[in-house]
Amino acid sequence: MREFAEAEMRPHVMEWDEAQKFSADLLPKLAELGLMGIQFDEKYGGSAMSAVDYCICIEELARVDPAVALSVAAHNGLCTAHINMFGSDEQKATYLPRLVKGEVLGAWGLTEASAGSDAAGMRTAAVRQGDCWVLNGAKTFITHGAIGGVMVVMTVTDRSKGNRGISAFVLEHGTSGMRAGKKENKLGMRASDTSEVIFEDCRLPAGQMLGEEGQGFINTLQVLDAGRIGIAALSVGLAQGAYEAARGYAKERRQFGQPIAAFQAIQWKLADAATKIEASRLLTYRAAYLKDRGRRMTKESAMAKLYASETAVRVADDCVQIHGGYGFVKDYPAEKYFRDVKLLTIGEGTSEIQRLVIARRLLES
Ligand SMILES: Cc1cc2nc3c(=O)[nH]c(=O)nc-3n(C[C@H](O)[C@H](O)[C@H](O)COP(=O)(O)OP(=O)(O)OC[C@H]3O[C@@H](n4cnc5c(N)ncnc54)[C@H](O)[C@@H]3O)c2cc1C
Repeated sequence: MREFAEAEMRPHVMEWDEAQKFSADLLPKLAELGLMGIQFDEKYGGSAMSAVDYCICIEELARVDPAVALSVAAHNGLCTAHINMFGSDEQKATYLPRLVKGEVLGAWGLTEASAGSDAAGMRTAAVRQGDCWVLNGAKTFITHGAIGGVMVVMTVTDRSKGNRGISAFVLEHGTSGMRAGKKENKLGMRASDTSEVIFEDCRLPAGQMLGEEGQGFINTLQVLDAGRIGIAALSVGLAQGAYEAARGYAKERRQFGQPIAAFQAIQWKLADAATKIEASRLLTYRAAYLKDRGRRMTKESAMAKLYASETAVRVADDCVQIHGGYGFVKDYPAEKYFRDVKLLTIGEGTSEIQRLVIARRLLES
């Protein structure tokens, strides 16, 4: 994984960032390595790796380009995982092979303009008409919203039932009544497409419902429990990349007649970074290990995501600081880690929401 990321990704990182596009050339190479179906069954063409293996893959991608890691994590951990966990045999046979072979990218639509952390407050609705459901509404900030070939979307099917009145559907890009809206012009993670998706009288056969009617939100929480392990791994990888860049620079840059790494103020930043990255990695692998054993890991994945993402923000900040003015320009990788990292305390549940999830579990019994 490391050899691949260094050889195939490192030389292009800034070019992809500037272009604000997920590289079409990279996708078949990622697929060739089995990265578009990391944890999925071999019968669908997947790599059948463990959750711990998945973390290592995402970590190594993020160490070099966090935006590519985000796309791979969203594809694997949200859209494809949701279909794998809750799809019928027929739905799995229809969608999984193309997703896990990387023929299409997956998108997963939960967030809306007025429903983010409070995702159950969504307005996108599906109304039953004969053998079909008709979808109307819009989803915001969707990874691969414009370029995804298959999408899972959460909708309200019975408003009177609150979060037990939400159902998921799976559909293909190009379905009549579904279109991409605004593409976001982002601070970081620019090589990963983030777009609005609009539904206007989008008519889907009843067989496109994913999972049971009314179970969409409950299923979503389970998808996110596992998905957050991926964002924690992404955070570990980004922090590792930023730490290595800072360490390398500190040994080379000389001021006052010596390398800046000789100053205790710099050494302490590096020591803190290395220690917190290791703690983040172990929290992340623990959550993944529990997932591999089929154990519940709601609290552990939230803890890993919270701690690893906040560590990554701190490490990316220190990486810029250690680079001084050179951390502020695009000739060094520090600047991009600093921009990319902020998404990690926001996406798949903000730090505040992770604390809420952890506290709920702590106070449950
Ligand atoms: C690059 C990117 C990619 C994304 N990809 C996807 C995707 O593929 N699919 C998808 O569905 N969504 C996606 N999202 C959306 C993301 O999950 C949401 O942005 C996130 O959940 C936060 O929602 P919000 O932006 O509406 O913020 P809000 O919910 O409005 O939060 C604003 C602030 O209020 C705080 N807050 C809210 N509620 C509480 C509370 N109860 N207690 C304490 N504080 C609170 C939040 O923590 C935050 O600090 C993506 C977002 C980005 C930026």
